[in-house]
Amino acid sequence: MKITFLGTGTSQGVPPIGCKSEVCLSLNPRDKRLRASIHLEWEGKSIVIDSGPDFRYQMIRAGINQLDAILFTHEHRDHTAGLDDVRSFNFIQKKSIPVYLHQRVYEVFQSQYDYIFFPAPYPGIPQIDWHIIENNNFLLGDCEIKPVFVSHYKLPVLGFVFDKFAYVTDANFISAEEKEKLKGMDVLVLNALRREPHISHFTLSEAVSLAKELGAKQTYFTHMSHQIGLHDSVCAELPDGIDLAYDGLQLILDA
Ligand SMILES: [Zn+2]
Ligand SMILES: [Zn+2]
Repeated sequence: MKITFLGTGTSQGVPPIGCKSEVCLSLNPRDKRLRASIHLEWEGKSIVIDSGPDFRYQMIRAGINQLDAILFTHEHRDHTAGLDDVRSFNFIQKKSIPVYLHQRVYEVFQSQYDYIFFPAPYPGIPQIDWHIIENNNFLLGDCEIKPVFVSHYKLPVLGFVFDKFAYVTDANFISAEEKEKLKGMDVLVLNALRREPHISHFTLSEAVSLAKELGAKQTYFTHMSHQIGLHDSVCAELPDGIDLAYDGLQLILDA
C-alpha cells in the first residue's frame, strides 16, 4: 500500500488568503498546506479520500492519472468542492467513477450538485456511480474497507480503516466502540487543528492523548491550521511515533 498526503490543511488551507503570520510567511514547503485529502494505491486500486477545492491541482501535483474510487468523509465544502473535476477521469477512463458516501452526504450532493442529477443532464457533467455506505465493511474490488463513525461536533463523519492504516479527519470525539476499530494500526492519521480549543476538531494536545491511547506504531496529524505553528518546531516537540503530516508525504506499508 502506497499512501500520499495530497493536502494536510484546514478548510482555508495554509496560508489562508492574505495571511502574514510567521507560519504563512515561512519558506519551508512543509508549512504550505492544501485542503485535507489523501491518496492510496492498494491492490492495484487508486483511491482518493475527499475531493476538496484543491482536488484538480492535487491530482496534477501527485501525477494521479487513474481514479478507481472517491470515499467521502462528510459534506463540508473543504472536502467536496472539487467533485466537478471528476470529469477529467471520466474522459481519461471513459467510464463512471465510483463514489462511496453516507446517505446524508448523498442528499447534500443532490442539492449542491443538482446538475449531476438532472433527468436530461448537460453533456460533459461528472459521471458517477454512487454507493451508499453504512457502518459496515465494504469491498472495493478485493480491498475490504472498514468505516469508522466519528463526531465532528454533532455531525457524524466517516473515518476509514484499510488493513493496518486508518484515516480520521474532522472529529473531536470518537466513541469507545469506534475507537476499538482504530487500535493495532501500523499508521494512524488523526486531525489536529491547532493548540486552542475548537468546537469540532481535536486540538494538538487532544490528538496527542488520543494517539497515545490508540497506540499506532506511527501517528500523523492532518487538517492543520496555520495557528498550530511551524511544521519543524511542532514536530520537534511531539513524542516519538507522532508527527505532523505534510503535503507530499508518502508512506509505503506492507499490505
Ligand atoms: Zn474539514
Ligand atoms: Zn468538516
